[in-house]
Amino acid sequence: MATQLFGLLGWPVHHSVSPAMMNAAFADLGIDAHYFPFAVQPQRLSDALAGLSALNTVGVNVTIPHKQAVFHACTVLTREAELAKAVNTLKFQIAATEEMERADASENLPLLGHNTDVTGWWSGVSDKYTNAVRTVVVLGAGGAARAVIAALALYASAVRVRVIARNRGSASALAQEFAPLIQVEPFPWESRNAVMHAADWIVQCTPIGMWPNVDDSPIDDEACFHTGQFVQDLIYRPSPTRFLMQAKSRGCVTADGLEMLVQQGARALEWWTGVQAPTEVMRAAARNAVYGNGFETNK
Ligand code: NAP
Repeated sequence: MATQLFGLLGWPVHHSVSPAMMNAAFADLGIDAHYFPFAVQPQRLSDALAGLSALNTVGVNVTIPHKQAVFHACTVLTREAELAKAVNTLKFQIAATEEMERADASENLPLLGHNTDVTGWWSGVSDKYTNAVRTVVVLGAGGAARAVIAALALYASAVRVRVIARNRGSASALAQEFAPLIQVEPFPWESRNAVMHAADWIVQCTPIGMWPNVDDSPIDDEACFHTGQFVQDLIYRPSPTRFLMQAKSRGCVTADGLEMLVQQGARALEWWTGVQAPTEVMRAAARNAVYGNGFETNK
């Protein structure tokens, strides 16, 4: 059997941790496969999908800026992808017979879309979830915020979500869209200190504080944090961010975004192969790729 082909579609992709993490996983599992970074310009996306399908690619991950476009290109979507309205993991349906191949060539590409940011985020935080968690604040209303809210709707629908965004329209749209599944309330950016203070969990889903802007933080008053809160920043470079250092200094339990990265990759590998992912190996490879051999951070 030929080496199985996997990859990551994005623009740009050269800084991605995924090839190191996924190739380490395939090596550990003894699967003859390779995972490539594919830098694809937005205007060449449909050519890239057709080419990858023709090459019998098993699956690809999808990152910025293609997640929404691939969502619309898929012929079958999982519940997670439908809720997130974005696809970060794609499976090509490989034709089992020559007749299927001829039929596929004349019709739309059979593309199966999933969103493992949803399941991956939840896998990384579910051990901290109890019935005592009533209010979850989500900072930002973009793609990552949407994945977090979709996960809460699927796995913790009794919580109340408060979305704080500088764009009130985006936060209100999220609230309306998820209303049948989970209570989501929009709040203006200026109210964040008071709203965060009243939360059990806070999930930071904006790029504020991401490398190289490591001195930035989305908050201007550390008093919004207190003991008993769980605070996560989806950013993993740097780790910890200034935001997480502020939360930790006020006694909060904190987590960066690396575990979400690892878990979304693990769920993708399992969806493609049906084999349990070697999460420890993937975590070590991701840490090594992000922070270097000594797992250095900016602490
Ligand atoms: P996105 O779709 O572009 O959304 C970013 C959100 O942040 C938007 O709501 C945006 O508001 C808001 N925002 C940006 N700059 C802001 C500022 N200065 N003040 C207030 N709000 C601001 O991006 P995304 O895909 O959701 O990613 C968000 C972060 O999560 C990034 O740092 C990304 O690296 C991280 N992430 C991590 C993982 C992981 O596996 N750990 C996975 C996905 C994402 P506007 O709409 O007004 O611009």
